[in-house]
Amino acid sequence: IFAAVEMAPRDPILGLNEAFNADTRATKVNLGVGVYYDDNGKIPLLAAVKAAEKARLEAMPPRGYQPIEGPAIYGQAVQNLLFGAGSELTESGRVVTAQALGGTGALRIGADFLHRMNPNATVYISDPSWENHRALFEAAGFKVENYPYYDPTTRGVNFAAMKAFLLGLEAGSIIVLHACCHNPTGADLSDAQWGEVVEACRERGLVPFLDMAYQGFAEGIDQDAVAVNLFSASGLQFFVSSSFSKSFSLYGERVGALSIVTASKEEAGRVMSQLKRVIRTNYSNPQIHGGAIVAAVLSSPELRQQWEDELAGMRDRIRAMRSGLVEQLKAKGVEQDFSFVIKQRGMFSYTGLSAAQVEQLKNDFGIYAVSTGRICLAALNSKNIGYVAEAIAAVVKG
Ligand code: PMP
Repeated sequence: IFAAVEMAPRDPILGLNEAFNADTRATKVNLGVGVYYDDNGKIPLLAAVKAAEKARLEAMPPRGYQPIEGPAIYGQAVQNLLFGAGSELTESGRVVTAQALGGTGALRIGADFLHRMNPNATVYISDPSWENHRALFEAAGFKVENYPYYDPTTRGVNFAAMKAFLLGLEAGSIIVLHACCHNPTGADLSDAQWGEVVEACRERGLVPFLDMAYQGFAEGIDQDAVAVNLFSASGLQFFVSSSFSKSFSLYGERVGALSIVTASKEEAGRVMSQLKRVIRTNYSNPQIHGGAIVAAVLSSPELRQQWEDELAGMRDRIRAMRSGLVEQLKAKGVEQDFSFVIKQRGMFSYTGLSAAQVEQLKNDFGIYAVSTGRICLAALNSKNIGYVAEAIAAVVKG
């Protein structure tokens, strides 16, 4: 049966992990993965999550099947987080939200649903984008193209090119947008530019799909929802995938959500009926634990506050690593200006290091980064930052 099966290419980032794990050097550092580590290099267990888990363990609730779209309390909590409790969108009943298997699962059920509606649409993702965007929408059956985004010369967004491109697209085209903390570049749109993107979507009749994987990692929960707020206020229909992997440090629990903003409550009912079919034929219904924890934290004022404080702690630590790295590079005699690292938002930095320099970091120092030069700032800590800065200084000084 399997004689003709070809070896698939390795996942670039997970492949990096395998190489890192096999490296025996004690000083090795993995800057490749998109995971937040604390200052001790550990994946944190948030106190708010721990409290919710403890309460759940004590209650020992039965483990029946969940509704196909997940429990209503979860959907409500996600909508309140995205659109604001008591907002027109959360009150109107025109938003449908389904619990999903992480942000990836949310994107995938959204993609499958969209493909059933309009299989001939083209999906546009930013150049560059999270590497799974292309694969995921292609796997759903779509043709996937890039829209202009990052400009390596300014280390920012080439917004003129992006906007002109959007204004030239066919109606019904699906446009995947990083709602905040762009992965991999760390370069986000300004609030005013978001406003222009919303108008371009309206003018061209595009289908916006916001990917919200890092809410709270740039400025804060509300501040990072600018794009979502502008789309909400526009009256347009759009998709939002949420991931709680990073913001709750619940990576392996696979907690996320897909929200679809429709035109009316009646439309929402029809959309949800179709979305449920997509889910039912994929994995039937979502798992309980992670979603229950997230819903419990978001629905308790005390736990929610504690969570926001802990999220702020993660955000501040990443920021400290950004400025620390820039300072240390300067202190080690690097003349090249790395101050852009401070301006980038979220977990990642596009450092501008070449593939050859990344290779040298690995070979000479046991420091692993993505070949595009993307590093995860959240993998730096007070113990390894000096070593990493020294290594980067060595490779950039040649
Ligand atoms: N979108 C983006 C932009 C991401 O960076 C990630 C995670 N790296 C995801 C979606 C997927 O999130 P999850 O791990 O929750 O599936």
